[in-house]
Amino acid sequence: VKFDIIVMGGGHAGLEAAWIASSFKSLRVALVSMPGVPLGSTPCNPAVGGVGKGQVVRELDALGGLMGALADKAGIQYRILNESKGYAVQSTRVQVDKDLYAQAAHQAISESAVELIIAKVVAVSRDDFGHFKLSLDNDSVLECHKLIVTTGTFLNGKLHTGEQVRSGGRVDAMPSAGLQELFSEVQTLGKRFKTGTPPRLRFSSLNLSELEEQPSDYRAQNFHFQHGEGRISRQVSCYLSRTTRACLDLIRANKDRSPMYNGQISGIGPRYCPSIEDKAFRYPDRHEHHVFLEPEGLNTESVYPNGLSTSLPADVQEAFLKFVPGLENAEILVHGYAVEYDVVDTSRLDSSLQYFALPGLYFAGQVNGTSGYEEAAAQGYVAGVNAALSVLERTPLIFSREDSYIGVLIEDLITTTRDEPYRLFTARSENRLFIREDNSYVRMAHYRQSLGLHQSIDVYLRDFTAQFHELYSLCSIYRTKNRSLFPPDFSNFVHGQVLDEYLSRGALDPVQLLEFFLSKAGVNFDQQVVKAVAISKKYGGYINRAHIELQKLSRIGEKRLQWRKLLEMHNISFECRQRIEQFKPETFDQLQRIEGIRPATLVFVSGMLT
Ligand SMILES: Cc1cc2nc3c(=O)[nH]c(=O)nc-3n(C[C@H](O)[C@H](O)[C@H](O)COP(=O)(O)OP(=O)(O)OC[C@H]3O[C@@H](n4cnc5c(N)ncnc54)[C@H](O)[C@@H]3O)c2cc1C
Repeated sequence: VKFDIIVMGGGHAGLEAAWIASSFKSLRVALVSMPGVPLGSTPCNPAVGGVGKGQVVRELDALGGLMGALADKAGIQYRILNESKGYAVQSTRVQVDKDLYAQAAHQAISESAVELIIAKVVAVSRDDFGHFKLSLDNDSVLECHKLIVTTGTFLNGKLHTGEQVRSGGRVDAMPSAGLQELFSEVQTLGKRFKTGTPPRLRFSSLNLSELEEQPSDYRAQNFHFQHGEGRISRQVSCYLSRTTRACLDLIRANKDRSPMYNGQISGIGPRYCPSIEDKAFRYPDRHEHHVFLEPEGLNTESVYPNGLSTSLPADVQEAFLKFVPGLENAEILVHGYAVEYDVVDTSRLDSSLQYFALPGLYFAGQVNGTSGYEEAAAQGYVAGVNAALSVLERTPLIFSREDSYIGVLIEDLITTTRDEPYRLFTARSENRLFIREDNSYVRMAHYRQSLGLHQSIDVYLRDFTAQFHELYSLCSIYRTKNRSLFPPDFSNFVHGQVLDEYLSRGALDPVQLLEFFLSKAGVNFDQQVVKAVAISKKYGGYINRAHIELQKLSRIGEKRLQWRKLLEMHNISFECRQRIEQFKPETFDQLQRIEGIRPATLVFVSGMLT
């Protein structure tokens, strides 16, 4: 059977890739995913969003992506993170019901134009015309023009719980072996990566009186543009505990039985998501680490103890839990484990995540050495939309790091070789005062509209951006003359001052002020537009200053490079030419980000561009 595009793997990357590719109605798109692993499954922390990641989910929503809508349907606890640090870096995080999330994913794909095939791909080959042939474990063979590989942690996956080692992509799932023919042509990183997960606990065995309750935050906005503020599912509380000296001492005493510390695991783990062993050995003087107890769903007893990721032997896991307050009698439903897997060298990919040397082959998600559902989903979107545009012989959709976290993620991936799992956080962006959750619809509108898809999100974006620009200019020109339009305790009223001046003042909450003013003045704008305008005004001065600095850099940074030509320049050192050949920078900015490129090379190349 011949498809335009086949997506291999129904995780977070695969779902977005298939979903957006199938929005182009003339294309035939299939999603092939392994039996026994639900679509959009959450093998680790059942939560979507968080710092830097909530922004990505909203960006995807503005682009017509899937993740935000699924998270809302399954959301059982909402929180606004970084609230005390100000609007610029706030992010939404949603605890999701694992089963509801997977059901919503299955329903969305089943109702879309995607042809869902539940089977394991056992071999992939490429013919002389560059078409791909996939052999499935049910003996059928599929063909396609473009192949998007999103196999997560399954590539030669190996699971570790103490001394027990077995093959698998995750607990209860087989690994993805047998893809040697395809991968003989693909450069994987010389090293393997690893990630781990904590034991799952039975809720009724926890001693809640010892734990601090954390209820859902009702103010947080849903992710999907059509979902407004009301919650779709029932909300539940999470609970907080802390490790103790006795707990960590027990872990330290079992160092020789820890696969991560006795040499059994060689893969590199995510620095920002350390296991409890890492915490015990990296910080020998610290004994108190947070443990968040997060229910995995409304109809399951399973609880995820966030902070206790481990690959220690089962008996050690059982023993150290006894020293965590509230978990003394906790019953383990599934023991924690670590998974080691192969990773593609992303410096071999272009900005659409296509493998340079094998046109038509795309990689997205954890197979690219990232960790996290949101990072995977963002890459899936980029690969899916670009595979579709490529079939239609249209220009690729390239995201800039200046106006999106998706752009930051893709550029970081393709311009460096991973030496540890990559995770997004706000500090990765030079422009984080501008790349916020509240203005995602304004920032992403130009990308989405360039696709010309005319779906409901396009109508919403048109209306949102029109209202945004109208209110934005209104605030810049409207001179306030009427004191009664401001709160009674407002002491800063100045007759004739423009509204902008009030909104940018340090101590005032710009959102509350603008909402109050507009309601008193009897002017109606979408609440999300009001929020986006107020926050944009608040940070306007800082953003302008940062923009001037960035523009100086990006004036040259955005210039496109002929990287092949640079390889012929003998006044660029051999080492630098090697790095250029490896990373294939398409712009000056990408060249600057490559580790090991010397200032002299940058000066020389910038001279060529100006
Ligand atoms: C044990 C564990 C712990 C983790 N811990 C963390 C963490 O602490 N923090 C964090 O941010 N992230 C963590 N993650 C990572 C997180 O799960 C991933 O980042 C995310 O799920 C990646 O999405 P993906 O779409 O790339 O891959 P996945 O969600 O893994 O999906 C891969 C899909 O490919 C399918 N597939 C694989 N091979 C084949 C084949 N041959 N044929 C057909 N289908 C195939 C699978 O069935 C699956 O549906 C963890 C993952 C695991 C397994």
